[in-house]
Amino acid sequence: MTDFSNHKFGTRAIHSGAEPDPTTGAIMTPIFQTSTYVQEYPGKHKGYAYARGKNPTREALQKNIASLENAKHCLCFSSGMGSMDAVMKLLRPGDEVITGDDLYGGSYRMFTKIFANFGIRFHFINMHDANNISKYVNVNTKLIWVETPTNPTMQIIDIEACAKIAKDNNIMLGVDNTFAPPFLQNPLALGAHIVMHSVTKYLGGHSDVVMGALVVNDDAIYEQLAFIHNSCGATPGPMDSFLVMRGIKTLHLRMERHCYNGRKIAEFLKTHPKVEKIYWPGFEDHPNHEIAKKQMRDFGGMIAIVLKHCTVEDTFNIASSFKVFSLAESLGGVESLVNHPATMTHASIPKAERDKSGVVDNLLRLSVGVEDIEDLIEDLRQVLG
Ligand SMILES: *Cc1c(COP(=O)(O)O)cnc(C)c1O
Repeated sequence: MTDFSNHKFGTRAIHSGAEPDPTTGAIMTPIFQTSTYVQEYPGKHKGYAYARGKNPTREALQKNIASLENAKHCLCFSSGMGSMDAVMKLLRPGDEVITGDDLYGGSYRMFTKIFANFGIRFHFINMHDANNISKYVNVNTKLIWVETPTNPTMQIIDIEACAKIAKDNNIMLGVDNTFAPPFLQNPLALGAHIVMHSVTKYLGGHSDVVMGALVVNDDAIYEQLAFIHNSCGATPGPMDSFLVMRGIKTLHLRMERHCYNGRKIAEFLKTHPKVEKIYWPGFEDHPNHEIAKKQMRDFGGMIAIVLKHCTVEDTFNIASSFKVFSLAESLGGVESLVNHPATMTHASIPKAERDKSGVVDNLLRLSVGVEDIEDLIEDLRQVLG
């Protein structure tokens, strides 16, 4: 297999992990739609025994995603939550986790409603200034879990500063990199131990697959995660693996357009009279703009806005009046989406917590797609006036 590790990002996105099928020369990795593999006699096989453990289509995808993060290992899961679940299973009762107070709703739900019951303690803190983290470190702290940019208020957390605290205290650092796929940000290079992706979003990119991934360099962490992966079994199917590989071949092109459109729309909304507040890390007055500039290649296409003088009903009416943007959960696909976090993606977070973290009832989140920018701006204009 050609080694593409020294090639540039777009070349790696297209070629890493994909090699012509040895029996036919097919340029696209075949969809190995099989659950099991025939053995000559017990234990003698071609390296594949049962598809929960290994499937060639999934392996090709895992090599590809590892390459995008310049990493040694990747494991793909049947969803982003499935991949986070595997990370949490590295912990034991009594262990403590320090994480942000502005997490994806599903992550907050899994921590508080599932893993808290298994005796794991979570500290949800403001990580805006990474020095805050040190105050919560004790002998039981085993994991710092960071999401950056955060969802939906686009706070930026300093990954390198978190990595230093993790290293000094012998703690694992995991980063949910869903909002800044490998084209934009590579946390392993900044000192993180585990990178997690909801592949459902930018990596898949076409709103047709639910999948997750973990990317690591450390062999020991990888071995533990691979054991959990096979033992607990949240593994993705071959068809989905194929679709994601196909999606990733244009990741660099899509990201360039997401970033371009994102910037244009952020600039349009910033001065719009209906917009009270806008969250986008590319603005110089964003509180952690300098950190965003340091750790991200560009600022992406995720934007959140607080609408001026809008009740929940007004906000609902606005959210349902778009013609090009679709009102839907999720993000990162080619099509532009608008989402009402308080009742959709973040509904599982209690209102008091939501208000505290800025997820107010008149906040809308935009996932800017790759359509023509003129049409997107026109759509915003017809909705907002
Ligand atoms: C969507 C999302 C997840 C969960 O991923 P699924 O693929 O939906 O299970 C986790 N973190 C963030 C930031 C997300 O946006």
